[in-house]
Amino acid sequence: MSELKPKPPLATTEELTEETVEVVKTNLMGLSPVQMKEYFESIGEKSFRATQLLKWIHQQGVSSFEEMTNLSKPLREKLEKLAEIKAPEVVSDHLSIDGTRKWVIRVEGGSCIEAVLIPEGGRGTLCVSSQVGCSLDCSFCSTGKQGFNRDLTSSEIIGQVWIAAKFYDSMGATQRRVITNVVMMGMGEPLMNFDNVVAAMQLMMDDNAYGLSKRRVTLSTAGVVPKLDKLADHVDVSLAISLHAAEDELRNELVPINRKYPIAKLMESAQAYIARMPDLRRKLTIEYTLIDQVNDRPEHAEKLAKLLADVPCKINLIPFNPFPLSDYQRSSGNAIKKFQDILIQSGFTATVRTTRGEDIDAACGQLAGAVNDLTRRSQRYRDRAESVLKVVEAPN
Ligand code: SAH
Repeated sequence: MSELKPKPPLATTEELTEETVEVVKTNLMGLSPVQMKEYFESIGEKSFRATQLLKWIHQQGVSSFEEMTNLSKPLREKLEKLAEIKAPEVVSDHLSIDGTRKWVIRVEGGSCIEAVLIPEGGRGTLCVSSQVGCSLDCSFCSTGKQGFNRDLTSSEIIGQVWIAAKFYDSMGATQRRVITNVVMMGMGEPLMNFDNVVAAMQLMMDDNAYGLSKRRVTLSTAGVVPKLDKLADHVDVSLAISLHAAEDELRNELVPINRKYPIAKLMESAQAYIARMPDLRRKLTIEYTLIDQVNDRPEHAEKLAKLLADVPCKINLIPFNPFPLSDYQRSSGNAIKKFQDILIQSGFTATVRTTRGEDIDAACGQLAGAVNDLTRRSQRYRDRAESVLKVVEAPN
């Protein structure tokens, strides 16, 4: 056994020279307002510098210390040595005929994620990814089929907002007008990447950063109950639950995490979250993807109405968006209308989400990026799909 040697004392910043140590720079992009304050204190600077930095980065879209004219030259030089402001790299952006814009973004390690801006009337909703791929493997979601690589850092999450805001700034618009809402509904399960998602959402809502109201920042979850139970201790945002079925047997098939945290537990946790929030008018959003012959029959709608009878909520019906190799079909227009009518007749607000950005593969559940899969799920999926195709094609 090797003997444990005491660690040498850490060098102070004055002692750090390029010859002695290569400094791992702190990326200030993803520091929450509190973390930014702590950072400046940790390098012996006044905490009000945090406010200045937040404004430069998130409101002015500045990523070089040199441009920060209200900081002294020595401070800028010190920051240059110790820190950096780094957003992930945009590989391409795509504009749909309906105005939806998608950014393909490369993150450290080479995988790509996607962010989507959906303009609608006076609103612009930015759909942000939280992970590279997703570990939950919902049967109808393209992201899950790509397998899972890793959590995004908070810099990579807020970096998507930064990239979109900067893009519109460069076109002469102020980001405040273009990005009015952010939804954590891109690739990944936000609650599986709790700390980084919380830090990024705090930045979305901070007045010195993006200044969005809590009603305009939405976290969508498939139901990671233990994490949902602690969310209210950290952040107050709007909550969407990806339900997709009102009974456990069917939901186990569609959303496998239901086997661990069944519907009753999920609904209890979701209601507890909104109940703890001070705003009495708060409602849950229930997302329900309508898949032909799977969960779209009148009896499914009736069960859903029964389950949600006492839940303050609005229901968002999402017609299934197909993707390559998927087993499912979109529900017919009639089935969707009937499903919606049953809910409305039962007294619910139920809207059908318009499919946006389909021509650029930017619709719900179509975001695939280019995941360097560590789970081998994407290969298994392709193998299975190929063998099914072979059976279909084989002559009798
Ligand atoms: N992991 C989060 C975010 C997922 S994406 C969650 O589960 O909530 C946002 C929504 O799109 C979810 O409700 C998800 O279930 C839904 N979705 C996924 N694939 C879809 C598809 N192919 N068609 C329509 N909606 C889909």
